[in-house]
Amino acid sequence: MPQRQYITTAIDYPNAPPHMGHVLEKVLADVSARWFRLRGDPVRFQIGTDEHGIKIQTTAKKENLTPKELVDRNVPLFRDLYAKLQISSDTFIRTSDQQVHWPTVIELWKRLMKAGALEKRTYSGLYCSGCERFVTAKDLVDGKCPDHNLVPQEVKEENWFFLLARESDWLTKLLAKSYHIVPSFRAQETLSLIEQGLEDVSFSRPKSSLSWGVPVPDDPNQVMYVWCDALTNYISGLGLLTDHAEGEWWDDAEVTHVIGKDIARFHALIWPAMLKHAKVRTPDRLLIHGFLTSEGQKMSKSLGNVVAPEEVLSKYHVDALRFYLSHEIPVGNDGDFSWKRFDELYNAKLRNQLGNLLNRVLVLLKRESAEMNRGNMKTELSKEVDVAWKGYAEAMNTFALHTGIQQAMTLVEHANVAMQTTAPWTMKGEEKMQVLSNFAEVLRHVSLLLLPFIPETAQKMSVQLGLPYADQMLAKDFVLTDAMKTWGGVTDWKTVGEPAILFPPLT
Ligand SMILES: [Zn+2]
Repeated sequence: MPQRQYITTAIDYPNAPPHMGHVLEKVLADVSARWFRLRGDPVRFQIGTDEHGIKIQTTAKKENLTPKELVDRNVPLFRDLYAKLQISSDTFIRTSDQQVHWPTVIELWKRLMKAGALEKRTYSGLYCSGCERFVTAKDLVDGKCPDHNLVPQEVKEENWFFLLARESDWLTKLLAKSYHIVPSFRAQETLSLIEQGLEDVSFSRPKSSLSWGVPVPDDPNQVMYVWCDALTNYISGLGLLTDHAEGEWWDDAEVTHVIGKDIARFHALIWPAMLKHAKVRTPDRLLIHGFLTSEGQKMSKSLGNVVAPEEVLSKYHVDALRFYLSHEIPVGNDGDFSWKRFDELYNAKLRNQLGNLLNRVLVLLKRESAEMNRGNMKTELSKEVDVAWKGYAEAMNTFALHTGIQQAMTLVEHANVAMQTTAPWTMKGEEKMQVLSNFAEVLRHVSLLLLPFIPETAQKMSVQLGLPYADQMLAKDFVLTDAMKTWGGVTDWKTVGEPAILFPPLT
């Protein structure tokens, strides 16, 4: 049964151009969204930008721009990059959008007020301008925020507080029952946070210290900061709590938020508690990814090892990058970006194994007659294809995407070995045709298995193979049928197309 899916990524903070961490997250979400569509689920996929806050305000000032000018300049950098990465999102939400985003935010705040979930207090605390939030003494290392190497400022001011501390029991039950953290090893980290005790959370700041944000309803001297504004993007993009709500994408959908491990606690704890008080159902799943290092070290400007996504895309086809991230980094784990490993993978897996196999099979087939003739030949590979589909679906359905892509590549590896041992180029006539046609059939399956990961390449493969459905493969309504997943199931496939080099040599 098709199940409606709503999948979102974190919204990006556009005070600087996008980095590889953004790319890792979008590719992970995109592969998931594409898999949902391929298995027949209706999908809504949202990405966007988190545009308010002090960092934007101060960056803009430094550059002699208004905050609005800064975000209007930087947001297209994100949109352009995601277009190049072929992220198949349906909506792009901007939190500075007063028409789309603000009405839901304001209504949500009012509901929290009405539910008694907000309280105004005079607060004095340690504020890290890097984190853009109050930090507690136990967050600090040698008196400094370890993430920003900054000494936090002592700040005393009036804030609206969201009463989170009293939600521990409810959250523990929710996380055990209906709000699932994937992969599961990330769940324990979150539960231990609850065990350590939750604190109420500052939800607004005086206008004097933060002016770039959504004004607090009925309290013009206060501006919302971070949570009620940013987290709410997930429902404002659907118009929830307004008169144009597309509620079916929330109430009747499986809701998956794809986020980094650094913001897991906010999504696991603050967000569902907000929704509860607003009388909106809680999401189903948090899909949490790790961080990306560069050549084994934390990416940082001072180490000079920052990898710019645009640099990778200027050297390689987009699918090489999508392949690298999907193949090398088990979902949820930290991963490493290494140029050397990138080249190895490109040459070994994409060029020599995948590209070469396709090319050899097609060239040999064309030399005969280009006609497909599988005969009744049973091969080891046909059994392997069945097994691969089962393992693949299981892996993909549980977000073990790295296992999914490996199923496809293992098939490629075995087909290469079989090509060497059967040596079809030494054969003649009917036998030769049948053996080669069977290799083409393996490649047909491989191209479908790879479709969520490297869509353009998968389609190119299918075009070269001459598959009747090749032209529709990149459409959002393309669904894998049982026939497509069956050995020899595409009966109207009669001839193969023109071979062409799939991945050019690196220069
Ligand atoms: Zn900090």
